Amino acid sequence: MQLRYYPYPLQLQHIFTVSGCSRSQTPDVLIAISHEGVTGYGEASMPPYLGESIESVCAFLSRVDLSPFDDPLCTDDILSYVMHLDDAEDDAHNFAAKAAIDIALHDLVGRILGQPLWRLFGLSPERCTYTTYTIGIDTPEVVRQKVREVKGRFGRLKVKVGVPGDRELIQSIREVSDLPLTVDANQGWTSCEAALEQILWLQSMGVIMVEQPLPKHDLEGLRWLTERSPLPIILDESVQGPADVIRLKGCCHGINIKLMKCGGLAPARLMIELARMQQMQVMLGCMTETTCAVTAAAQLAPCADYLDLDGNLLISNDPFRGGMQVIQGKVTLQNEPGLGIVLKGC
Ligand code: MG
Repeated sequence: MQLRYYPYPLQLQHIFTVSGCSRSQTPDVLIAISHEGVTGYGEASMPPYLGESIESVCAFLSRVDLSPFDDPLCTDDILSYVMHLDDAEDDAHNFAAKAAIDIALHDLVGRILGQPLWRLFGLSPERCTYTTYTIGIDTPEVVRQKVREVKGRFGRLKVKVGVPGDRELIQSIREVSDLPLTVDANQGWTSCEAALEQILWLQSMGVIMVEQPLPKHDLEGLRWLTERSPLPIILDESVQGPADVIRLKGCCHGINIKLMKCGGLAPARLMIELARMQQMQVMLGCMTETTCAVTAAAQLAPCADYLDLDGNLLISNDPFRGGMQVIQGKVTLQNEPGLGIVLKGC
């Protein structure tokens, strides 16, 4: 098997602001794994707060040698080799780089077997629910404009909160939309009592779920809030990989799984199993990504209670077409082998 990769910075359609930072570009590396004339695609997307960069991803990928593996279907062997390839000195753990390999390898396997990945995972595409479309923090006028732009295309909106103008932001959305809302505070609320008061108000405004209300390490606060909140509390920044699912029992109602955080589809599937064993809800999210990684996450959409798979819709230079589609607000899976994506111009 042969691995190729190149940096491909993603351009955002709008400057994106969440509690903590603003940006107009996201670093990204595209990869391809080929075997006997068949190619699978993968991607590493690196939002700044996760500690990986184009340099670190390329350095990790330069150490990956797939030439000893002559059967791509032995995914367990290949992925465990990749999972344990960190430098002893390296504390970033290279999860986005590992996710890129995991995604490309799964795509390759699906293409070789002639089946979409969701079918190889034994899932039913009819079970996919609505995905949210994310509205970043902005002025009321811009927020109303963004909501109007996507009217009729989405069944749920996700609103970034966690700043002093939260209520004004929600009220401006309510002037132009009555869709169910989810909110993501991105750790922006600091006291559990104030968070609970805010959640009660949000519930009265038609909000159905709250993501990461408190700082990621405040497990005592999160436990207190989970015991009292009338809305499900889903943790994102507190969760990275499978071990966190066990650690966070009782501190939330559910977890937000992202391929770039956990290292790809294989660990994501394990996290879903662990969450189910502990009666936790499952959300599938994404970073700002191309259709490649978003479609990879969507292969697990039939397992999820909440979907936030809009990362490819926020960029203006998506190099892929095909893959999963959002139809009348719902994630709709492709029938083509692997991820069913095609590089534009090929
Ligand atoms: Mg989040």
